[in-house]
Amino acid sequence: MSEENPRDAVPSLNFIEEIIEEDLHKGKYKTILTRFPPEPNGYLHIGHAKAICLNFGLGLKYGGKTNLRFDDTNPVTEETEYVDSIKDDIRWLGFTWAEELYTSDYFDTLYGYAVNLINKGLAYVDDSTSEDIAAMKGTPTEPGRDNQYRSRSVEENLRLFTEMKAGKFKDGEKVLRAKIDMAHTNMLMRDPILYRIKHAHHHRSGDKWCIYPMYDFAHGQSDSIENITHSICTLEFIPHRELYDWLIEKLEIFPSHQYEFARLNMTYTVMSKRKLLQLVNEGHVTGWDDPRMPTLSAFRRKGYTPESIRTFCDKIGVAKRENFIDLSLLEFCLREDLNQKALRVMAVLDPVKLIIDNFDAGLTEELVSENGPDESLGKRTLQFGKELWIEREDFMEEPAKKWFRLAPGSMVRLKSAYIITCESFVKNEAGQVTEIHCTYIPESRSGSDTSGIHVKGTIHWVSAAHAVTAEVRLYDRLFTVENPLGEEGDFKDSINPNSLQIINDAVVEPSLKHALAENRYQFIRKGYFCLDKDSTADKLVFNRTVTLKDAWAKEVKKN
Ligand code: ATP
Ligand code: MG
Repeated sequence: MSEENPRDAVPSLNFIEEIIEEDLHKGKYKTILTRFPPEPNGYLHIGHAKAICLNFGLGLKYGGKTNLRFDDTNPVTEETEYVDSIKDDIRWLGFTWAEELYTSDYFDTLYGYAVNLINKGLAYVDDSTSEDIAAMKGTPTEPGRDNQYRSRSVEENLRLFTEMKAGKFKDGEKVLRAKIDMAHTNMLMRDPILYRIKHAHHHRSGDKWCIYPMYDFAHGQSDSIENITHSICTLEFIPHRELYDWLIEKLEIFPSHQYEFARLNMTYTVMSKRKLLQLVNEGHVTGWDDPRMPTLSAFRRKGYTPESIRTFCDKIGVAKRENFIDLSLLEFCLREDLNQKALRVMAVLDPVKLIIDNFDAGLTEELVSENGPDESLGKRTLQFGKELWIEREDFMEEPAKKWFRLAPGSMVRLKSAYIITCESFVKNEAGQVTEIHCTYIPESRSGSDTSGIHVKGTIHWVSAAHAVTAEVRLYDRLFTVENPLGEEGDFKDSINPNSLQIINDAVVEPSLKHALAENRYQFIRKGYFCLDKDSTADKLVFNRTVTLKDAWAKEVKKN
């Protein structure tokens, strides 16, 4: 008998889960509280999905809760539009927050904390210019220096800070700094700025404030105000942890703790909101939800399922070191999910006419077809007639070796219908095939016994008399290189010029006239598609969600 490791049976824990289990086991906390803290300055991207799945996932797994906190301390870049889109995206991903909170709602409390630090002699008002502050800060190998403002009295600091709040000074004239240690080995501990003056309208607090807390003086404090137990952020905040802990300790407030994990980077993708905003503003894409963007609203519009994104986030795990995740993994998760859910339909993207010479011109036959491999997807009726549209690439005048599709004299099965033999074809003056003539075998209707007939290929089709014209948008990767930011020059130089191909005159089966936005479709042999929001009653527009197979993997193998 082989020895069994009891841990084999249990999926292993990630390092944050290990910490949480230990904290709960030791009774450090009765229950856990996490938070997702987006800054409302852009739309959420797939990297945020990782943070959402992690924070909400932990809340769910350990019977705790997760807050949604808008980290809105920067009045200039934030907009209500972003707040709404962020909420939509989290709901779409399938998560529910315990409370919807705003750092701006803590402005009074944070101001009180600042006064508390001043009273303890742990903060001072500095009149230096930002250049002087930088110059006095030293370098990682050289200590910084104290300036003359550092020794201001508590009374003077209190007076000046009150005046800062009252709007007596212009932007940049003064800042409030923590008084820690100008020679600290951690540069962030060299008297970090806590408050700055900014005469700007805030999307929620309006004109009430003209001083705003810096990230470091808002984030940890907000965690603490909410009693967040495990505050999870990305690796670049490791150096901030010391300050996070210092402030909580000096303020003697709830001891939240910060833990860092590696942010998600994905090949062929840029993820920073600032860069995404550039793509939008400079017209490289049509908007934040352009299906080529890595935003959640774009993935949604393109037909991604929330389940596929959650599975992806689960599969990549929680790492402590930065790496690049292959975009193909996300597409793999998507295909797995769509394969279960998508309704199979027929659409011809590059149509050529097929005429069945021995089929009655006036006749429309109704054929029943399954909507998918799973019976629960149901059945539908297909109209079949003398004239059909088939895919131009499914016919070869002079067939190559191992060609199993249509060619003069060859036989194929028309999906869910009959076996046909190609008899002849017609070309126009330009040499383009315009009509393919064939005969069908009436006894070969799908489902009947055709054991005597040997047919290798099956092709899809749409009845010409019933077809509906549609616009189909085929998307490809937005960048041609794996790491657009790793290239020399501007990341926009590696934008894929062929990331969108629009087909205006595809033909689709009539059932798609009633296509629903929430449905996913597999255009048989062509890929997964969904209805785009640009669709109208008069014009159907479909997006290709993903191809059936990974075309890039093939491309890489070839080279
Ligand atoms: P960006 O740099 O893309 O603008 P950000 O970090 O400034 O993102 P925030 O709104 O501050 O965006 O992020 C909210 C939360 O999402 C933070 O906790 C942040 O750590 C997390 N997050 C952002 N980007 C990623 C990513 N690529 N992978 C994992 N988590 C991320
Ligand atoms: Mg940020």
